[in-house]
Amino acid sequence: MKELNGVPVSQGILIGKAVVIKRQELDCPRHFIHAKSTGREIKRLEKAISKSKNQLTRHIRGLRHDEYGFFEVLNAHLLMMDDVEFLDRIKAIISERLQNAEWVLQQVSRELVLAMGEATDPYLRARAEDIQHVSNRVMANLCGIKADPDAGKLRGAVVVAHAISPGNLARMVKQGLAGMVVDVGGETSHAAIIARALGIPAVVGMGNASTSVKDGDKVILDGLRGKLVMDPTEQQIEEYKEVRQRFMAFEDELLSDVELPAETKDGFITRLSGNLETEDELDELLSHGAEGLALVRTEFLYLGSASEPDEETQYQAYSRIIKRIGKRVVTFRTLDLGGEKFPSYLPQLEEENPALGLRAIRYCMTHPKLFTTQLRALLRASIHGNIRIMFPLITGVSELRAVKEFYRKVQEELRAERIPFKDDIPIGAMIELPSAAIVADLLAQEVDFFSIGTNDLIQYTMAIDRLSEHLRKQYHPMHIAILRLLRMITTAAQNNGVDVSLCGEMAGNPMYAPLLVAMGISELGMSAVAIPHVKRLIRSIRLSESRELLGRVMECDGFEAIEELINQEIGERFPELCYKRF
Ligand code: PEP
Ligand code: MG
Repeated sequence: MKELNGVPVSQGILIGKAVVIKRQELDCPRHFIHAKSTGREIKRLEKAISKSKNQLTRHIRGLRHDEYGFFEVLNAHLLMMDDVEFLDRIKAIISERLQNAEWVLQQVSRELVLAMGEATDPYLRARAEDIQHVSNRVMANLCGIKADPDAGKLRGAVVVAHAISPGNLARMVKQGLAGMVVDVGGETSHAAIIARALGIPAVVGMGNASTSVKDGDKVILDGLRGKLVMDPTEQQIEEYKEVRQRFMAFEDELLSDVELPAETKDGFITRLSGNLETEDELDELLSHGAEGLALVRTEFLYLGSASEPDEETQYQAYSRIIKRIGKRVVTFRTLDLGGEKFPSYLPQLEEENPALGLRAIRYCMTHPKLFTTQLRALLRASIHGNIRIMFPLITGVSELRAVKEFYRKVQEELRAERIPFKDDIPIGAMIELPSAAIVADLLAQEVDFFSIGTNDLIQYTMAIDRLSEHLRKQYHPMHIAILRLLRMITTAAQNNGVDVSLCGEMAGNPMYAPLLVAMGISELGMSAVAIPHVKRLIRSIRLSESRELLGRVMECDGFEAIEELINQEIGERFPELCYKRF
């Protein structure tokens, strides 16, 4: 019996068999070929590529229309298989060095993966992962190995892999796969996001699970605490069955509050809303009690399409969301493109440091046609419901004024064309940069609401890449600097009668809810599964005691002390709610 530890990214417990996907490169054969056989060798390579393309095309055809994210990734893999430069290089080496296709494919891909994997640009690092997936698939077809595990083995199983492509994961889940463990990645890796969206327990960043676990081994996957128990004892299986039973019963029981407000015992109400990445999450959000949408990440339309979506396509997509949400408030964030969120069909930006570059509102303001198209679509869709519009990555007042001016001109354009739209849509600024937090009192005079994006606020305040595996522990919402900024923002908003939402990941952690409520944040935006947990916690506390706790927290000087205090006051009082991956 042995345990491996990683990062829990999707909750739940699974007891089942492991299906191990080995890295094909480990088993790659090398031999020399006769000069006369080079033509045949190249044909073998072409046949393997064509087979791989057929497999991918079949997967793409099997996707539902709303699975934009998978479409984008699989389509990118398909395009890579037509990369003439890459293929010509492999063919040339086969002819020059008289080596077999498998070996040459492995060498060329490895060079590329290494070069890109070391890039500082997260976009390029993500491309390295894609190249590895494409190369693995072609290699499997070259070697006559099944590129995809037997469907029969997947039912109820845990896939254990070095890395896994989102497309493969989605397909395997359709075939009955019930859990995922991968050696690499963090909470925001592609596979982690998909596992959460598909609701299967998952742990990433395991290090060497794919070489430690054998195919068919019995394992326990603990997606609550980030563990993989190999070869468990009968006693452990029984214990975990009980934990799973308790967890599932508790999740069901929490749903009994679905119609109730998130109201403290002394009558203070906070709105719990959803964050939406793709349209298909909407049903789940509503069934978990989302009272609105605090953040619609509109990039999904751009990232999930093979070409730039036109005004009509965007109008239809926004209208569908608004109509399905009914009378509730939907907050659309305008495009937050840039860095790793950049579609392949737009001209790529050559930037040394994309996180500090032309992204989000900066990109939109320098691409007026693209921005106008989105604003026109949003304004037109506004007649169907109750929307708010907010702008990401605002740095200060003059930028915000310029954005508002741009927005006004688009409104005028529609008016001149006699196209109807609501002209009282609340306008907001995302506060996710330290500069915006520091001048929040000035920004508050310009907008109807603030939405605090703590994911970026933490990253930019502490200079810690939010994707960094190495600095995961230091990237912490309870750093006193972050809490002081949150208080500055909320105080500025209250002084100016401006509503404040918070839609970063910390909103979905019940441990932090008392502090956020005490600061006067009126709406928290989170994923579907988090809503019932946060609601139960808010319904179990008093605003007065939360305020008292906030006062004590603000006197601490380090996040270790703050964590300890919150653990004592909240974690130990509500262990079942705080027994979570955070
Ligand atoms: C944030 O930065 O907290 C946020 C909600 O935006 P995103 O995670 O999309 O950058
Ligand atoms: Mg952000």
